Amino acid sequence: MLLVFTGNGKGKTTAALGNALRLLGAGKQAIMVQFIKGPWESGEHKSVARLSPDFKIIKTGKGFVGILGDTLPIEEHRKAAEKGLVLARKEIASGKYHLLILDELHNAISLNLIPLSQAISFLDYAKNKVEHIITTGRDAPREITERAGLVTEMRAMKHPFQKGEKAKKGLDF
Ligand code: ATP
Ligand code: MG
Repeated sequence: MLLVFTGNGKGKTTAALGNALRLLGAGKQAIMVQFIKGPWESGEHKSVARLSPDFKIIKTGKGFVGILGDTLPIEEHRKAAEKGLVLARKEIASGKYHLLILDELHNAISLNLIPLSQAISFLDYAKNKVEHIITTGRDAPREITERAGLVTEMRAMKHPFQKGEKAKKGLDF
């Protein structure tokens, strides 16, 4: 099944991580490939290291694209995103994983790092290699939600960021 977590509210990546945690309890294996996000460590990277080899996270991004002081040529971001797809393909080819999470895939598409057609053909390939796929990120394209069996839209009703509060360790990263 393809599950999509989208929308402007908090909870997309953490919902995917929560679902992976649940799946591991069923004796299965999960892999998450993260697009865009930079090389910095977030809490889940440390926790998931403890769940190795049943759960693995691969970060392929170069950080924010076109905002917050990003000076990297778009081509570098593109290469990093393409590398993400190549690595994901390699990992699931082993047939070892039951769940593949493509974190921030929708953003990688809307920022033109990955052509939509390439993402779709990747999903078509992946569905024969894993039991479930989760894609996350704001603005899920219609072509992806159409293929999904489950689509949840996180809607921001309130977020501390709106009051100028900074991201909190353990909650936001
Ligand atoms: P999380 O990783 O906490 O599940 P997310 O995956 O839904 O969040 P992203 O768009 O990937 O959200 O952004 C990640 C970061 O942005 C997190 O630190 C999250 O708390 C924060 N964030 C999410 N939604 C909002 C919002 N509406 N306004 C401001 N910051 C947000
Ligand atoms: Mg996220």
